[in-house]
Amino acid sequence: MSARVASALAAAAAAGALLYLSAKYLSRRRRLSIAKSEATSPASSSDSGPPEELGTDKCVKCIDVLFDDDAQADAGSAPAGMIGWTRDNNRSTKREAVLPWDDYFMAVAVLSSYRSKDPNRQVGACIVNPTKRIVGIGYNGFPVGCGDDALPWGRGTPGGSSLDTKYPYVCHAEMNAIMNKNCESLDGCKMYVTLFPCNECAKLIIQSRVTEVVYCSDRYHATESMTASRRMLSLANVKTRRFSSTNRINAIDFNNVDPA
Ligand SMILES: [Zn+2]
Repeated sequence: MSARVASALAAAAAAGALLYLSAKYLSRRRRLSIAKSEATSPASSSDSGPPEELGTDKCVKCIDVLFDDDAQADAGSAPAGMIGWTRDNNRSTKREAVLPWDDYFMAVAVLSSYRSKDPNRQVGACIVNPTKRIVGIGYNGFPVGCGDDALPWGRGTPGGSSLDTKYPYVCHAEMNAIMNKNCESLDGCKMYVTLFPCNECAKLIIQSRVTEVVYCSDRYHATESMTASRRMLSLANVKTRRFSSTNRINAIDFNNVDPA
């Protein structure tokens, strides 16, 4: 495992364990949605270009952020449906309301998407092996060595050259997660990804022997790329499943990870 991947995975795991931390500096009990702008902005009818990587437009249904000043200070009484830290000094049995595996891995994918510098779409992916170990994470961005300011991030203009857009250059989250893998084989692994994979990523997923794709958004379902993707994934017996959860996860406050 490279130091860079190990560091990234460790950071993701640590962040996953901290997802209940409240944002104490924000107004109390003010509920926001992750990538709210995506949730409130319907897909443009002019979205006729290549499928884009997408952040969390559908994930807002399942992973909201509850900014609650009191949540951490009074950790024993988390709001119903909230997943995160609790404290019950009198309890002698195990805690039940833990973060489910699906939510945990999709949250890591969402968290990874926050690293993307794409101004229009942020996508994250998290690959998990059959023993529930995270073996690869990624987000969309330019190839290694290609500076973030050296290539265009735009979506192009009518009649313009594709060379002036991001599309020929961006590595999708799925590709990066696969390339970042810290094990020899991805045979039998699941991939959690915030957007249904395009046809190019579907090829990589199939060739890497990933056997299940769990996704949040299917924004580009009707495009030819996604149709081709579904066709190939189906033929290759790669299971696809839309992520669903009613849980909510609190924001992270790095300055308040273990209050008294
Ligand atoms: Zn792709």
